[in-house]
This record gives sequence, structure tokens and C-alpha cells, in this order.
Amino acid sequence: MSRIVYVNGDYLPEEDAKISVFDRGFLFADGVYEVTSVLGGKLIDFEGHAKRLERSLSELDMSAPVTMDALLEIHRELVARNEVHEGLVYLQVTRGAADRDFAYPAEPKPSLVLFTQTKTLADTPVAKTGIKVISIEDQRWGRRDIKTVQLLYPSMGKMMAKAAGVDDAWMVEDGSVTEGTSNNAYIVTKAGTIVTRHLGNEILHGITRAAVLRFAREAQMTVEERSFTIEEAKDAAEAFITSASTFVMPVVELDGAQIGDGTPGPVATRLREIYLEESLKKAV
Ligand code: PLP
Repeated sequence: MSRIVYVNGDYLPEEDAKISVFDRGFLFADGVYEVTSVLGGKLIDFEGHAKRLERSLSELDMSAPVTMDALLEIHRELVARNEVHEGLVYLQVTRGAADRDFAYPAEPKPSLVLFTQTKTLADTPVAKTGIKVISIEDQRWGRRDIKTVQLLYPSMGKMMAKAAGVDDAWMVEDGSVTEGTSNNAYIVTKAGTIVTRHLGNEILHGITRAAVLRFAREAQMTVEERSFTIEEAKDAAEAFITSASTFVMPVVELDGAQIGDGTPGPVATRLREIYLEESLKKAV
């Protein structure tokens, strides 16, 4: 069965799903996206992703091609048509096709594309062993709070990690960790405090981050939203990342140095359990 992809109002077999070469997403990376996970055939935190999408669009003076209610229906229809039990729904809105010009077109016709990816997310073996990361310089543009499709530097970061024989990279700017190439970064101090960078234009405001910090505070864990360095991270009791596709994923090695005892720590392990349990309750 060919995968069914949504393109501007139509549900099409993937080989027939096409976008113009003049699409500004293709020519200028003039577009935004969201990735929502699917567990048990249901969407995790759709509302959070829809709200962030609205914000990304508004920061770029782009209008939403359909209402958020319609978007939920498209997500559900795609999950059903592709029989996705566990995996991801990728959504992309671009400013659409227009004759090539740096200035935005006067009357843009935004493009909307969604597709699914079936993937094991919850019971992935790597959650039991943790991932290894290296640090790299953060060379992205200055509006990382907008979830744009401009992902070349994160791709380069993943390739640097691959070349170093590890799983991912944490990016560093002015001596502090910003975030992972496609995830938010955390450490747990020896005193048990969860530390993650404060919100601002320097990082993406992760939907998983917001949920995990809420669950951590509800569980009486101490959270500090502030900058931290690679040295502090190497000396931490634990480290982990969060994203819609990895949930809470332990980090056991940073720049070749073992973190804690080199195995997933109790805080990351517990937060992963709480996150999965609580988000499943509210899945739509
Ligand atoms: N930071 C970056 C740079 C990302 O690309 C992502 C996800 O793609 C995240 C953080 C995590 O965000 P979320 O939890 O909303 O998936």
C-alpha cells in the first residue's frame, strides 16, 4: 500500500503528491513545520503543536491555510488512512508558489503538506541505554524560536555527530548550551535540580519541554530554567533531551566523558514514564 500524503486539500498516493518548483519553501526555506507523535493511533499534545504553529506563522506574517480544527481532522484522517498505530505526523506550511523574489508575494497562496511516518517510539531500545552526544558550535540564525524548515545546520550537526561515532550534538553559543540539533537539552545536578535553558529566541520552545517541566514540578522536582555550560553538564548526575519523537531520552556521554555512571539516570527514567503515562491520557 502506498503511503497517502495530504497536499493542499487532496489525499494522494505519495508518488502523486507534488509541489511547485516555485514554492517559496523550496526556494527560500520560507515555511514552518510541526511534528506530532502518534501513540496507540492517537495524537500526543496536538493542541500544543497547533498553538506553536499559529505563533510561528504569525512571526513570519503568514496566514494559516486552514483552521486548527480542520488541521486536527486532516491529522486524524491521515493517521487512519495510513493505519499509523505508532509514529509521527509531519506538517509543513510554506508561503506557497510565486515568481522568485526576495520580497513576499502580495497575495500569497500558502501550501499545506502533511505526511505520516510509522516508527517505534515508546519501546525503543535506545531509551534503556541512552544516547551519546558531542558539543558543537551553534551556527544557526537568530530566530530559533520560530520552527522554520531551515534545517541545514542541524543536519550538518547530525553529520558531525555521526562522524564522531555518536548519536547527536548539543550546540553551544557564548559558552552555554542552547539545545540539541532537534531537541531540548537538560542536566540534573548532583543536588537533583533539573536544569534547562530558559526560553528566548535562542532555542525552540519545545512542546515536550513545556509538558515535561510541568510534570516535573507537579512531582515536586526542582526545576531551574537557566543557561549551563558543557563543563557543568559533564559534571552533572544525569543528562537528557526531550522532543516530540524521543519524548524524554537519557544522555549518557558528552564529548567522550561519561555522565553519572554512564547509564540512564533515575530522574530521566521517571520523567519518561510520567510523560508517556500523562500524555497518553490526553491523546486525541
Ligand atoms: N529544539 C529543536 C531545535 C527542535 O528541532 C525540536 C524538535 O524538532 C525541539 C527542540 C523539541 O521540540 P518538541 O518537543 O516540540 O518536539
